Amino acid sequence: MVSRVISLDTFDFVAFGGTGDLARRKLLPALYQRDRAGQIVGDTRIIATARAHMTSEAYRDLARTAIETHVKAGEREADTLDRFLARLEFVSVDVTGETGWDDLGLLLKPGAERVRAFYLATSPDLFGVISAKLGAHGLITPETRVVIEKPVGKSLASAKVVNDAVGQVFEEHQIYRIDHYLGKETVQNLMALRFGNALFEPIWNAAHIDHVQLTVAESIGVEGRGGYYDTAGALRDMVQNHMLQLLCLVAMEPPSSLDADAVRDEKLKILKSLKPINESNVGTLTVRGQYEAGASAQGPVPGYLEEIGAKQSANETFVALKAEIANWRWAGTPFYLRSGKRLAQRVSEIVVAFRPIPHSIFDGSAGPIQPNQLVIRLQPDEGVKLQIMIKDPGPGGMRLRAVPLDMSFAESFSGRNPDAYERLVMDVVRGNPTLFMRRDEVEAAWTWVDPILNAWASTNMLPRSYRAGTWGPSAGVALIERDGRTWHEDGI
Ligand code: NAP
Repeated sequence: MVSRVISLDTFDFVAFGGTGDLARRKLLPALYQRDRAGQIVGDTRIIATARAHMTSEAYRDLARTAIETHVKAGEREADTLDRFLARLEFVSVDVTGETGWDDLGLLLKPGAERVRAFYLATSPDLFGVISAKLGAHGLITPETRVVIEKPVGKSLASAKVVNDAVGQVFEEHQIYRIDHYLGKETVQNLMALRFGNALFEPIWNAAHIDHVQLTVAESIGVEGRGGYYDTAGALRDMVQNHMLQLLCLVAMEPPSSLDADAVRDEKLKILKSLKPINESNVGTLTVRGQYEAGASAQGPVPGYLEEIGAKQSANETFVALKAEIANWRWAGTPFYLRSGKRLAQRVSEIVVAFRPIPHSIFDGSAGPIQPNQLVIRLQPDEGVKLQIMIKDPGPGGMRLRAVPLDMSFAESFSGRNPDAYERLVMDVVRGNPTLFMRRDEVEAAWTWVDPILNAWASTNMLPRSYRAGTWGPSAGVALIERDGRTWHEDGI
C-alpha cells in the first residue's frame, strides 16, 4: 500500500526546549521523516531555542546526532539529512527574561499567511510566560499555533491556571494540547474500525459488550524522571490524559463528521458521564501500587524508592480502576483501566470483551465457548485481533476452539509505520486540531480525577507494594476477578 503525501505550504516551526529530551528523541526525528517524505518543502525553517548558548552550526551537530541515534539507519540518506539540517537555526532565549526575543523575531519570516508553529517542549510552568512573551514581542500572527505538551496541570485548579495563561494570548483554536497517544495509527484505526465498518456499531453497546479493558503497561522504571514522577504518579501521568482519551474514543457516540469539534464534543460527553469515584467507593473501585525490587528481562532491578533516592513515598507507580459510564449505551458495562511501571511486559492495548452466546447448540464435547474479544494493540506490534470460535479442523466430531483473526500492521503494510509525533506535528501545521485536546476536555478529565486523588489522601489509601516485573499488586487482579472477569493475557 502506498501512502499519500501532501506537501504543506512553507512554514516556520519554533521549538522551545529545542535541546531537551523530547526535542531530540521525538521532534527532530519526526520533522526529519516528514522532510524525507517530501511533506516539508521550500524555505520552511525549524528554529530551536533554549537558554544554552550555541551557534546554529553547533545545533545542527546536535540534531545530526539525535537523528543518527533515533532514526533507523535504512531511513537516513546523507543528502536528505543535509537538506533537513540546513533548515535548522538556533537562538538562545531565556524565556523568563527579555533577551533573545528580537533575534527570534528577526528569524521568523514576515507575512500574515505563513504558518508559525510554536512548540513548547519545556517544563509546563513556562507555558504561560512563553505565551505572554510571544504576545508582548508581537510574534503572534493570524496563522500562528501553539503546541503545549503534557502535563496540563496537576489538578483542575492548576490546569485552569495553565489554560488561562495560554488563553490570555492565544485563541482556543490556536492551542494544540498534544496527547501523542491520539497520533498512533492504531488509535486512529479504532475510529476507522468503528465508523468505517457496518459490522461493529450495531453491537457496540452494553447489550453486546460485557466489559472493556484498557492497559498501558511499561516494563521500565522512572528512568531518571523520578523528580517529576514522584509529584505525579500513575493516575495523573497516564490515566488523566492518555487512558481517558482512549476510553472516550471507544465509548463516544458516532460524531457527525471528523471535524475537530464534532469529535471533541462527543468525547466531552463521555468524560462528563463518568460516574464519580470519591471517598464512598474509592476503596472498592481503585487500587494503587508501588514497585519494590524485582527483576526485568535484563536482570535484577531496584525498587521505586531506591530509584528515586527516597526513604519513603506515598506515590503510586501502578493504578487499576473500574470506571462506569452513566448513559444508555454503556450502563452495566464497566471499563477496567490499569497502568503501571516495572510491570511484566511493555504493552498498551484495548480489549473489547463481548458477551457470551445466549444459548449453545453444542454438547459438552465441543469444549468451552469463549466469548468474542476484539483486541486493539497500540504497542508494541500495533495491530487488531478479533478472537472468534471455529471448528477444530479434521475428524473427531464438533470440537470448537478460539482463533484470532489477526491484522498486524507491520505485516499488512509494507510501508513504515510513522511515529505519532510525525502525524501530530503535521496536523498542527495544516491546522487540524481533531487529534488534540480541547480545554474543556482536559478540565472535564481533571474534574473526574481530582476526587479520586482527594479520596486517596483523605482515606489515607497508600499504595500496595508489588515486585518489579509482575503485573502489579494482587489487589489489581482482584479488582476485576471479583466481578468474574480476568485481565487479558497476551497470545489469544
Ligand atoms: P528537558 O529534557 O528537561 O528539556 C527542557 C528544555 O527546556 C531544554 O532544552 C532546556 O534547555 C529548556 N529550558 C529550560 N528552562 C528554560 C528557560 N528558562 N528558557 C528557555 N529554555 C529553557 O525536558 P523534556 O523531557 O524534553 O520535556 C519537555 C516537555 O515535554 C515537558 O513539558 C515534559 O513534561 C513533556 N514531555 C516529555 C516527554 C519526554 O519523553 N521527554 C514525554 C511527554 C511529555 P536549557 O536548559 O539550555 O534552557
